[in-house]
Amino acid sequence: MKKLTILGATGSIGTQALDVIRKEEENFSLVAVSAHSNWKSIINILEEFNPSYVAMTEINAYNEVVKYCRDRNKKTSVIFGMEGLNAISTLHEVDIVLTSIVGMVGLKPTFNAIKAGKDIALANKETLVVGGKIIMDEVNKHKVKLLPVDSEHSAIFQCLSGNSKDEVDKIIITASGGPFRGKKIEELQNILPEEALKHPRWNMGKKISIDSATLMNKGLEVIEAHYLFGLDYDDIQVVVHPQSIVHSMVQYKDGSVIAQMGTTDMRLPIQYALNYPKRKTVIGEKLNFYNMENLTFEKPDLTTFKPLKLAYEAGKAGGFAPTILNGANEASVELFLNKEIKFLQIGNILEEALNKFHSSEDLSIESIIDMDKKVREYVFKHFKL
Ligand code: NDP
Ligand code: MG
Repeated sequence: MKKLTILGATGSIGTQALDVIRKEEENFSLVAVSAHSNWKSIINILEEFNPSYVAMTEINAYNEVVKYCRDRNKKTSVIFGMEGLNAISTLHEVDIVLTSIVGMVGLKPTFNAIKAGKDIALANKETLVVGGKIIMDEVNKHKVKLLPVDSEHSAIFQCLSGNSKDEVDKIIITASGGPFRGKKIEELQNILPEEALKHPRWNMGKKISIDSATLMNKGLEVIEAHYLFGLDYDDIQVVVHPQSIVHSMVQYKDGSVIAQMGTTDMRLPIQYALNYPKRKTVIGEKLNFYNMENLTFEKPDLTTFKPLKLAYEAGKAGGFAPTILNGANEASVELFLNKEIKFLQIGNILEEALNKFHSSEDLSIESIIDMDKKVREYVFKHFKL
């Protein structure tokens, strides 16, 4: 029986993970969960799974959950804020932490979980983008497993299995291209959040949906892959594959390409990460090659979708650049969702932030959090209406 903490249990990944463990009650015990403000869903989770701990990071929601547990005489410990996230990530009884919080707020709890010797099922890519080197050093030091949940990274992880890394020529990360694939800058001037949120293939949280529309998501994934698989940026190629059937590929030096395919169902990589190295019975549909549309592949348009180009630049620059890029992006996406900036401004703000901020400080969890704060404050101060 694996004992599990889910950070961000109420989100798109979190609820799909609950579905995975619902189908495998005999294999998993849910020890702890977290959410930000969605206390109603947390109460449903408490009723169904009866975890011992809940962390809430928004004060009103925290109060609601405390009141609920008191009124019902529930023994669940309810803990507030970052302290709560850190506490449920390091519980001695927990084996594996699924990090499905959105944003770089996941950095510290993930870091602490690794230090406490927990295996990590990593959905929260922002953590690896900002803290890649520090996180990977800690993973190696504590000999924990860092299992990718992001579908592309899960695919690459599977395609690398059984082969020598020395023989890899490059990894090929597929991208659906998002809702605006094929559009040019002139056509994207007045995009509304509702349009950008309509992803053609995946049903995801708001932040990652906007990142998919700008191709920033692919940029974050390139940086994530660099750290996870230890490859140079020149050996990480992005290919647009609108059908999202091939989740990513590895090309070996003899020219062979190994691809991982599956339906567009995140429960597959979640299930694989939680059960690794075992494979369990599929939860959703299986691929049917007789019904499949044609699979196509094309080059991404880095002029229209500037964030992907900037992510390569920030990744190659290293140091604080990925933190600056990510902080500016998290702030810009929030402003765009609130209709305070236009869609194309997101890329311009990222570029401006990358040019403006520099630091000679050593990278540490604290200096990364400081830099992120400075960048966000700058973006909100200059662009918030
Ligand atoms: P959602 O927005 O659907 O869910 C986010 C979760 O994090 C919720 O549980 C939310 O709580 C919680 N949360 C939000 N803000 C905070 C905060 N400030 N502090 C603590 N917790 C917070 O996101 P997704 O599930 O789509 O994405 C989660 C992560 O997984 C992201 O890093 C994303 O990039 C990655 N990912 C997602 C995929 C997908 O298909 N959705 C695919 C691959 C990667 P509440 O509900 O209370 O707001
Ligand atoms: Mg992905």
